[in-house]
Amino acid sequence: MSTQRLLWIDGRFVPAIGNKTFTTTNPATGEVLAEVAQAESADIDVAVAAAAKAQAQWKRVPGAARGRILHALSQKLREHRDELAELEMQDGGKPIAETPEADVDSGADCLEYFAGQATSIQGEYQEVDGGFFYTRPEPLGVVGAIGAWNYPLQIACWKTAPALAAGNAIVFKPSELTPLSALRFAELAKEAGVPDGLINIVPGFGDAGQALSNHPHIDKISLTGGAETGKKVMADAAGTLKEVSLELGGKSPLVVFDDADLDNAVSGAMMANFFTQGEICTNGTRVFVHESVREAFIEKLLARVEKLKLGNPADGDTDMGPMISPEHGKLVLEYIEAGKAGGAKCLTGGERVEIAGCENGVFIAPTVFDGCTDDMTIVREEIFGPVMSILSFTDEDEVIRRANDTEFGLAAAVFTRDLERAHRVIGEIEAGICWINHYNITPIEMPFGGIKGSGIGKENSRRALSYYSRLKSVFVAQGAIDAPY
Ligand code: NDP
Repeated sequence: MSTQRLLWIDGRFVPAIGNKTFTTTNPATGEVLAEVAQAESADIDVAVAAAAKAQAQWKRVPGAARGRILHALSQKLREHRDELAELEMQDGGKPIAETPEADVDSGADCLEYFAGQATSIQGEYQEVDGGFFYTRPEPLGVVGAIGAWNYPLQIACWKTAPALAAGNAIVFKPSELTPLSALRFAELAKEAGVPDGLINIVPGFGDAGQALSNHPHIDKISLTGGAETGKKVMADAAGTLKEVSLELGGKSPLVVFDDADLDNAVSGAMMANFFTQGEICTNGTRVFVHESVREAFIEKLLARVEKLKLGNPADGDTDMGPMISPEHGKLVLEYIEAGKAGGAKCLTGGERVEIAGCENGVFIAPTVFDGCTDDMTIVREEIFGPVMSILSFTDEDEVIRRANDTEFGLAAAVFTRDLERAHRVIGEIEAGICWINHYNITPIEMPFGGIKGSGIGKENSRRALSYYSRLKSVFVAQGAIDAPY
């Protein structure tokens, strides 16, 4: 049943100044879930003013007290786990088998982690010639955050938790395809004791995102989105010289050596291509398999891929739901056709599947291409769907060179039992997030973020705090000034 959702500014729901709205739908069924107020530049101004006012108080709240509030919010997420998991499933088309853990628990874990970190923000002290100095990590002020549609609640948490822990306020624009969970998150934040104005949610389109990037009173922009959007955001942010963190796309390599535990490597490759129906930025879509184990790997892989169940994401036994939208589904199907036309051999999948009761959703069978070459479009471009490309190799130096032959540098994995080789190869691979004998596991304690065309900065871990604060150096003289005048 469709409802109305307003903007969340200064601790309450408000209509958009321009009174514009847009609809958000369930991608599996096409059902309209809500009519959502559409933020534009004028609304962003109001949200930023509310955030600045709240931040002026919040920056004076001791870290331990900030942490207690973030901890209370993490508890709210846990209490509302089923409701939020359902919302994320409906708005994003993600299987209900995934959302409780991958979306809600991971968001709550992040809030809990930064609740603890809020007490540990420290500067340095050093004695030097003529006195001593100390440093003060200080909040930036108002953070503008822009999210992608694949992990809306998790992205809201990954940006809000470190921002608030470090003493900032936030204005968050979720993707217009998935605005609902962030709005509910903000309501729960108020119940948890987050002061009004500290978290503002402004659903809207690219122009609302641009209003954040351009805004003179926003001190930092944190974007999760595509590489082209990242470049635009950075260019817009340059006008006011604000700090920028970018979590962008990828085309990550997953390398399987001849001594790998093949069952484990197949598990990794499946996690790296079919979780969330392949709509994950870190996915290892270029699967390099040593020629001597290629056939055995493929045999094991196909046996398991063909058991994956496409279906209504509301069903507990569904492994893969629909693409986020018909437009995105069309794009993924076009890539599959390009793969076939380009000479790759489609071993399984490669087509749209009709699901009874979900005729409006675009469901795409998990697709595996073999015989891929490095120059193929499906091997070079991010598809953001369930499409795996298998490439064979025979030599370590060769595979390192080919793995690095991409504009992206988000993630990578190596599967091997040879410890020396594992670390040697990972040392040479140009990627920000790497796994040895695993894939797509992202503990909150581990820094997360790409290099090269995949982004700037890190989320999660203690390091995230440094991306939400600035350092002030203070010199204290001990003795008279030795003036030359
Ligand atoms: P987009 O880049 O299309 O959009 C991301 C966000 O930016 C959306 O909220 C979008 O609004 C907004 N936006 C669009 N244009 C502008 C602009 N000119 N200025 C400011 N904001 C703008 O990405 P998708 O939502 O399609 O998400 C998929 C992409 O995100 C993939 O490339 C994926 O790899 C990447 N991603 C990266 C992750 C990471 O951590 N590295 C994690 C998840 C996804 P609207 O939606 O309303 O157009």
